Amino acid sequence: MGDVQPKKRLAIFGSTGSIGTQALDVVRSHQDMFEVEILTAQTNDELLVTQAMEFNPNAVVIGDEKKYAKVKDALSGKDIKVFCGEEALEEVADFDTYDLMIAAIVGFAGLKPTLKAVAKGKVIALANKETLVVAGDIVMKMALENRAPIIPVDSEHSAIFQCLVGEARNPIEKVILTASGGPFLGKKPNFLVNVKRDHALQHPNWNMGAKITIDSATLMNKGLEMIEAKWLFNLNPDQIEVVIHPQSVIHSMVQFEDGSIKAQMGLPDMKLPIQYALGFPGRIKNEFPRFSFKKYPNLTFEEPDFKTFRNLVLAIEALQKGGNTACVLNAANEIAVWAFLKNRIGFLDITAVVEKTIERIPFIKQPTLQEYFDSDGEARNFAASMMKI
Ligand code: NAD
Ligand code: MG
Repeated sequence: MGDVQPKKRLAIFGSTGSIGTQALDVVRSHQDMFEVEILTAQTNDELLVTQAMEFNPNAVVIGDEKKYAKVKDALSGKDIKVFCGEEALEEVADFDTYDLMIAAIVGFAGLKPTLKAVAKGKVIALANKETLVVAGDIVMKMALENRAPIIPVDSEHSAIFQCLVGEARNPIEKVILTASGGPFLGKKPNFLVNVKRDHALQHPNWNMGAKITIDSATLMNKGLEMIEAKWLFNLNPDQIEVVIHPQSVIHSMVQFEDGSIKAQMGLPDMKLPIQYALGFPGRIKNEFPRFSFKKYPNLTFEEPDFKTFRNLVLAIEALQKGGNTACVLNAANEIAVWAFLKNRIGFLDITAVVEKTIERIPFIKQPTLQEYFDSDGEARNFAASMMKI
């Protein structure tokens, strides 16, 4: 029995979302390796209860306080602690009873609980890219100080991370992030001006939550990922390149100082990077469908259309400028995407809201954590007032 590994105890923050449910699919297939300690959801109480019944965690959090009684009642026969509200997320993130957090909350809301887990030195399987976009310098410094490994779940960053295994002594010349281009690849502003929510929600290759799907359609997602890459891999802005690759088979690449390029490839399926982060440093055997070169005779690559997809340019400027700019960009984008999803503003208005908010909010070169929170709040208020929401 000597070589039996103890099960990794998981805390899944945002368990009812696209990443959260796929993480639970991975757990379901490997119950000998993982057990679930904590599950959290914002509004979907029914799915949270179903998940809790199946995986029997130690604790669950429902963000929406109005749903607390319902969840508590449904789990009354079980030995599961039930919490509610925003602060409870930080409380359970502080528990000793788990080893690894899957940070799969969407948006700025994911930052605080993730910081708690980092401070505890937990392993972080990071899907929530906004955490690094908002406060990457502070998060990475804290992770180093507390020896909290951050393993990316975002497919591009997982690809880069995998390319870097065994290369610790070899400097990176540059990374090349691939982008599918989203549903509006090749379209021009005269088309985009009339785009509606339902059309923008149809991504060609990936089935994801609403916010990231819109970010993929505007290419803001790739801009956020450039900023995420800067912090994860300690890069300068000019070491991060984007190439459009509509088939989403190469998930990203690293170029080394000898000119050699490593790529990580596979079918577009988020379960793969999720599973890699959970199993790291090992790879876990699975039955996922395999990629076939014969079915993809044409892997293609092209330059992004920076003239049309202005969000990408705004994100690159934020990456170059540093300070609180990316935090402000992220906040304005969250508000604008929310408004677009509610049919309150048009597709191209998202860029206008982000640009004006960045112009308005005072620049801070080296913000404290509190200043990041304040910048986020100010940017949200300004963006909302601009749209009269
Ligand atoms: P989603 O909308 O499907 O799920 C979000 C989860 O977060 C849900 O469980 C929801 O209950 C919870 N949540 C939402 N708002 C919250 C709040 N204010 N407080 C606490 N919890 C809240 O999102 P997703 O697509 O799973 O994405 C999650 C994160 O992973 C995002 O940051 C996204 O950018 C990143 N990501 C997702 C994918 C993907 O394929 N879906 C790929 C790469 C990265
Ligand atoms: Mg990605």
